[in-house]
Amino acid sequence: MQLSRTEQNYLKAIYMIGALSSETIGASTNSIAMRIETRPASVSDMVRRLSEKGLVNHNRYRGVTLTECGLQQALVIVRRHRLWEHFLVHVLGFRWDEIHEIAEELEHVSHPELIARLDAFLGNPTEDPHGELIPGAQLQMPHRPTESMHSLPPGAQARVVCVDEGSDGLLKYLDEIELRPGAIFTVVSVEHFDQSMRIRRVDESVWRITREVSNSVQVERMGS
Ligand SMILES: [Zn+2]
Repeated sequence: MQLSRTEQNYLKAIYMIGALSSETIGASTNSIAMRIETRPASVSDMVRRLSEKGLVNHNRYRGVTLTECGLQQALVIVRRHRLWEHFLVHVLGFRWDEIHEIAEELEHVSHPELIARLDAFLGNPTEDPHGELIPGAQLQMPHRPTESMHSLPPGAQARVVCVDEGSDGLLKYLDEIELRPGAIFTVVSVEHFDQSMRIRRVDESVWRITREVSNSVQVERMGS
């Protein structure tokens, strides 16, 4: 199926919001508009077009969800995006806060053989530099339960799984404090006033983490 760049961006946005057909609540017009950075009225037009192509379902109460076909198309884009990000960091030596905008362009280059060779060249990586899973060649996406770092109670030990790539400033900061995928820490305390937390790293150093940062980090709990 030939899709325009805009159509591809919409499918990816709806996927990133988590509006799969299996979910009871889909993406709202406003949430899509925020991600695409456009007006809600433009979103309505595009959603109608995608619905006519059988890529999304639009229910007045439930919102917008991807059909099976829409999901496959979204995963094609996500796969390209994350493979290119891997390439940019591990082959071209870009920092992880420099790659997202470049990958936003490269994800629209649609030569299938190019992506197959890129994947093989990189050794079939399963995660991008931010820790996000890369869909396989068959567009399979393994289920990996994670939770937001900010939901951890004092005493919990956790490992960073992936981080929100949305803000370059945040990524730079996470790099500085070495809170990258794989980092292990224990929550020492959570401040009631502003939900900031203090965490202890394996090297015994203690860091204060703001709510804004802990909201942008996905973790898996260890031990318990
Ligand atoms: Zn990205």
